[in-house]
Amino acid sequence: MIIATGLLLSGLFSVQAVLAQDMSSREFFSMDTYMTLQAWGEEAAQALDEAEAEVKRLELLLDAQDENSEVAALNAKGKASVSEDTVYLIRRAQELSWKTDGAFDITVYPLMKAWGFPTREFRIPEQAELEALLPLVDPFLIELSSPNEVAFLRPGMEIELGAIAKGYASQRIMAIFAAHNVQGVVSLGGNVQTLGKKPDGQPFRVGIRMPSPGDEKSGVMWLPADDPDIKAAMDAGLLGVLESSGDAVITSGLYERYFVKDGTLYHHILDPETGCPARSDLVSVTIVCDDGTTADAYATALFVMGREKAEEFWRGNKDFDMILLDAEGHLIITPGLEERFQSPMTCSVVE
Ligand code: ADP
Ligand code: MG
Repeated sequence: MIIATGLLLSGLFSVQAVLAQDMSSREFFSMDTYMTLQAWGEEAAQALDEAEAEVKRLELLLDAQDENSEVAALNAKGKASVSEDTVYLIRRAQELSWKTDGAFDITVYPLMKAWGFPTREFRIPEQAELEALLPLVDPFLIELSSPNEVAFLRPGMEIELGAIAKGYASQRIMAIFAAHNVQGVVSLGGNVQTLGKKPDGQPFRVGIRMPSPGDEKSGVMWLPADDPDIKAAMDAGLLGVLESSGDAVITSGLYERYFVKDGTLYHHILDPETGCPARSDLVSVTIVCDDGTTADAYATALFVMGREKAEEFWRGNKDFDMILLDAEGHLIITPGLEERFQSPMTCSVVE
């Protein structure tokens, strides 16, 4: 028996030694955040080269603050001929606005500028200023025509794809990983997406951070170590740990982008209806979904909706799972996560 165990162990070690050789990882800064990519497989290094190039290509197209990007050109002129990626994202954004009853809206950019978020020169706009800008906030005033023409139907409109660009990027990386037959994980700021399993056959573990304003780290992080001690994870500032093999785990909430003035916290997710930071009773929304773009958009939208509407939205769609933390400290999950999510906090399960 002991001999058999010894053989088994040495067998495992040699498998791991081989797999370790095929593991590649990469870290770089793009889309305003640190990105970590890790892949296992014969073509892991090549997959990571392509993935990094792809993220950087997307950043050059999509960054509204880079005057050379397609999005900036569109915002400046009100119309432009753009790449297929940009058209795809605008189309998806419109569909997601429709689905979320306007909570998700890429045309909030003029409002974001009024609050000073893009430049970080924060200010509180007058009500009259917001009211003058609200007519520009309507994603259905973006006209798409073939082949790749985009036009705004009202002068002054501007878009920003920050709420879905990272989710789209992680989705694209997974496609590259799949094409190279590698398994892996990417962590793009507060977004994690996984493909397959770790070399030991176990799912990846994703830590969901406890939101705390002042904390520079964002919503979710991939946990490289196999620490089974949930309490230790909690002490490190996590509200729980989720197993993932083949989905996107994306969080929006009160994490890093906000300012405080006269004791009030103003955060970067706007309610497109009021033009002001959403008065959400949620502090953190994590979406688990096999499509990164959808997960990213839902995370932003459900934060705007607040707890009750978010739960209603899940009941009406059920094409995703979620972990919600409300301002009173209640943790709410959907039934699909019951077996995958561990937390020392008491969770209620949405029905
Ligand atoms: P982060 O980019 O910090 O991970 P989100 O995915 O929630 O967070 O995206 C927030 C960004 O999206 C904001 O910085 C802003 O540019 C834009 N945004 C703000 N409110 C909305 C909204 N209601 N719908 C779509 N995009 C929004
Ligand atoms: Mg988002």
